[in-house]
Amino acid sequence: MARLTLKDIRHSYTPNPASDADYALKRVDHVFEDGGAYALLGPSGCGKTTLLNIISGILRPSEGEIHFDTLDVTDLPTEERNIAQVFQFPVVYDTMTVYDNLAFPLRNRRVPEDVVDRRVREILAMTGLEERAKRRAKGLTADDKQKISLGRGLARPDVNAILFDEPLTVIDPHMKWTLRTQLKELHRRFGRTMVYVTHDQTEALTFADTVVVMYEGEIVQIGTPEELFEHPRHTFVGYFIGSPGMNLLPAEFDGATVRVGGRPVALPGTPQRPSGERIELGIRPEFVRLGREGMPVSITKVEDIGRRKIVHASLEGETIAAIVKEDMEIPAEPHVVFDPAHLNLYADSWRVELEGRP
Ligand code: ADP
Ligand code: MG
Repeated sequence: MARLTLKDIRHSYTPNPASDADYALKRVDHVFEDGGAYALLGPSGCGKTTLLNIISGILRPSEGEIHFDTLDVTDLPTEERNIAQVFQFPVVYDTMTVYDNLAFPLRNRRVPEDVVDRRVREILAMTGLEERAKRRAKGLTADDKQKISLGRGLARPDVNAILFDEPLTVIDPHMKWTLRTQLKELHRRFGRTMVYVTHDQTEALTFADTVVVMYEGEIVQIGTPEELFEHPRHTFVGYFIGSPGMNLLPAEFDGATVRVGGRPVALPGTPQRPSGERIELGIRPEFVRLGREGMPVSITKVEDIGRRKIVHASLEGETIAAIVKEDMEIPAEPHVVFDPAHLNLYADSWRVELEGRP
């Protein structure tokens, strides 16, 4: 196992990048601590696979260095990095049996056959492939083949890190949950450094202790699931995490008071930024109170989500969502109030510190 350090990494797929727009990774400077369980979360195209392939050595970054512990591996080929990588789509040896596919990475390293057998049986049990152990991989479904790929990634106990690139994409929904739980359990038992790439917030938040959120080739926030929920550093994090995401309302700030639609809004502290930037107020739907007082809204849609309802409304021409109890009666003249403790202020998409915030 190792600590993975990415030092000022930039990567462009074009030979002569001119501006930031030419970089798939604009700048990544980050340490994955030894034994950590990380999720790399972001929308399609934000650079997740590029970053993973740079860690494993499939790609050499245009700029920057990668260190495994104190060793500079920037110019080392994949084989010398001792990394296990599971890709989005299955990579299996079709003519080999399931058993031999799983044994391959161990036999390759000349692990004694009795150890191989013990390990392969464990993985067969974990992935639910026991009954198919003796079958050739060729005739299996994509789902089963992906379980083999996943199992192969987990076979060797001595890797520096295990990288997963959206590994459950082709797995059926129920098995997804089972495998994710097993991965997490495996991490708890063996404490290996794991980096799990996904565009699905539920996957990220259930697998990882630390979630690294990427957006347009950059890391915009690193935090625990709670931190990402409570204090999104960037409006993208607020919007991407949560269901529905954080409400973002255009606001005005004159240096003293923040206003939405001309109405002053009470904040939990004093903004530490000059005025003159594009200001937005962020409030999660969980903290929007619907009632007879506050700012008037008009309801546009009510969605039932089991024990709660999502109320969609229009506030000064802006759409806003509130999550309320399922039995709540919506007033004839609805108004909203924001829970001040949960307000966040953004200037040009980045969160503004509020001095005196409890
Ligand atoms: P993600 O895995 O988050 O979906 P990728 O790392 O695959 O994102 O891609 C990041 C950006 O780099 C995208 O704009 C994508 O089109 C581009 N890209 C990825 N691979 C290549 C490649 N081999 N050649 C050129 N552009 C690429
Ligand atoms: Mg990808």
